[in-house]
Amino acid sequence: MSRVAVVTGGTRGIGEAISVALKNAGYKVAANYAGNDERAKQCAEKHGITCFKWDVADYDQCVKGIAEVVAKLGPVDVLVNNAGITRDATLKKQTRKQWDEVVDTNLGGCFNMCKAVWDGMLDRGFGRIVNIGSINGQAGQYGQVNYAAAKSGIHGFTKALAQEGAPKGITVNAIAPGYIDTDMVAAVPPNVLEKIVARIPVGRLGKADEIARGVLFLVADDAGFLTGSTMSINGGQHMY
Ligand code: NDP
Repeated sequence: MSRVAVVTGGTRGIGEAISVALKNAGYKVAANYAGNDERAKQCAEKHGITCFKWDVADYDQCVKGIAEVVAKLGPVDVLVNNAGITRDATLKKQTRKQWDEVVDTNLGGCFNMCKAVWDGMLDRGFGRIVNIGSINGQAGQYGQVNYAAAKSGIHGFTKALAQEGAPKGITVNAIAPGYIDTDMVAAVPPNVLEKIVARIPVGRLGKADEIARGVLFLVADDAGFLTGSTMSINGGQHMY
């Protein structure tokens, strides 16, 4: 029996690599995305992955989206909360809108998605949840009070929910990626990026596949004793 996995933001970047790795490992994968239909189409055609469009910041859309996944693929065994955005600005310049968008998507999205799958996982006595945090949630980052707060929140959320899931066969873990070569990092000005790479002991940006490798480890059926942890995959940039 194939397990069903939902990957939010699963159509490009780190999420696409996670969707592909899960599919190659035999999971039935539902890749969620927000609005980039072209990239979702490419993901579906290239990898044969079923894509579903909804906004993880919207509670009702998450509940409806999961119902659609269940109807098409079956009950959800694995949830990877990967969808995330940045709206960088120093506190002096940051608007309340930029704060709300990042917190509602990156942290609120985890709540919405976990709520949508939790009862089913409890009923079946099995679940694997992986939340994608960030090195910047662990260490902070200039110009990212919204993003660092949301990602730091993910790490607390993970540890609290892990305690609720532990006696019920549900594990909840986080991955804190360092700087990974995706569209999100391509948006960082080259002079800033150069300085960031100089601080990574491995001497390069990470690859999306290197995060996917961690997800596969955490969601395995025989990883039931591993819960409430944060796996840092960051080329040695921040040793926590
Ligand atoms: P990308 O910007 O490359 O991709 C983001 C994905 O999330 C897209 O599929 C996008 O959909 C989706 N998404 C964004 N907002 C929503 C939403 N409201 N609802 C549903 N889906 C949404 O990001 P990365 O691959 O770089 O990052 C993935 C995760 O890893 C994020 O949580 C990020 O914060 C985290 N991370 C990334 C790092 C990096 O260096 N890249 C470092 C540390 C953490 P669409 O295509 O429709 O826009």
